[in-house]
Amino acid sequence: MSGFNTRSIHVGSEPDPVTGAVNPPVYLTSTYAQDGVGVPRFSDYSRVDNPTRAALESCLANLEEARYGVAFASGLAGEDALLRTLSPGDHVILGNDAYGGTYRLLTRVFGEWGVTVSCVDLSDVAAVEAGFSETAKMLWVETPSNPLLNVVSITDLAVVAHAHDALLVVDNTFATPFLQRPLTLGADVVVHSTTKYVGGHSDVIGGFVATNNDELATKLKFHQYAIGAVPGPLDCYLLIRGLKTLGIRMERHCSNARAVAAYLVEHPAVDKVYFPGLAHHPGHDIAKTQMSDFGGMVSFTVKSGVDVARKICESTSIFTLAESLGGVESLIELPSAMTHASTVGSTLEPPASLIRLSVGIEDIEDLIEDLAQALEL
Ligand SMILES: *Cc1c(COP(=O)(O)O)cnc(C)c1O
Repeated sequence: MSGFNTRSIHVGSEPDPVTGAVNPPVYLTSTYAQDGVGVPRFSDYSRVDNPTRAALESCLANLEEARYGVAFASGLAGEDALLRTLSPGDHVILGNDAYGGTYRLLTRVFGEWGVTVSCVDLSDVAAVEAGFSETAKMLWVETPSNPLLNVVSITDLAVVAHAHDALLVVDNTFATPFLQRPLTLGADVVVHSTTKYVGGHSDVIGGFVATNNDELATKLKFHQYAIGAVPGPLDCYLLIRGLKTLGIRMERHCSNARAVAAYLVEHPAVDKVYFPGLAHHPGHDIAKTQMSDFGGMVSFTVKSGVDVARKICESTSIFTLAESLGGVESLIELPSAMTHASTVGSTLEPPASLIRLSVGIEDIEDLIEDLAQALEL
């Protein structure tokens, strides 16, 4: 197998056989001419299959070292398609720091339908073990997690899940396959919000599910066309384009985040810095074994509390105050009032004064200077 960057650029993107165009055309078509009744040349309909979508699926599946990859219109649409393989009465065990949208989908949509959900501290393997029930079908893990960047051992959790005949699902949105490939560590399914680092330019919403499990892949493909939350060809094109620079962008995201974390640790106004690359981070040793670098997200709290944290978020000029993450541009936000507002009062609630940074790929001196002036408050 050739290297990550070679594959991210070439898999699924062969020059067009007719014209030699180095970028295959974007197939803006809803249907396909048939050579006879019921004999389509490619597919019968673009909800079922589309060449641009197929190119994205083959490339990202390859990068995740998966035999199968299925693209969806958003990360949550992919999660929905996966969760629909469950039946009423089934139980899902979720990390207590999971993405709020995953928690909402499980409790408010699948909960209504009869799926039960419990949240556990995934860093405590004994607690995860104790959280299993007869009806548990999935253990759902995010590592690093959002917004506290906890890191847990995929290998250890795979052993626990498999001992109970449950699937280990890993949301690999934060790490991306450049830093971590969960299927090679024992996970059964990988889910992605490709909206984030895979797209990388804050201009597209997308989702992806990858697996090596034949039976599950068949169900996911069925849900993709039977339910229909498919990405359009232009969205797929943007994601293919994003994948070509994923490796080089991640290298810069990681080095910038490391420098930002080192700066914040020394700052007198800063209380606690959450970044898996710091030696004192509780998940640092696990991160070193299962990831090739520590990612581009950094969270921190300030000593003077939530009002000052709010002002800091409103005082940067290069870091844009916005939700989401993973784009080339740096973003800043206050999870307790923004991305994680819906978790306030639950076990998933982040510290009120926690600030989350999605560190972009701008020049590091400019990013540090921007944080320095905002922290002077
Ligand atoms: C954004 C996000 C999702 C949801 O993806 P959408 O593309 O917004 O539907 C799921 N998991 C994580 C970790 C995310 O950051």
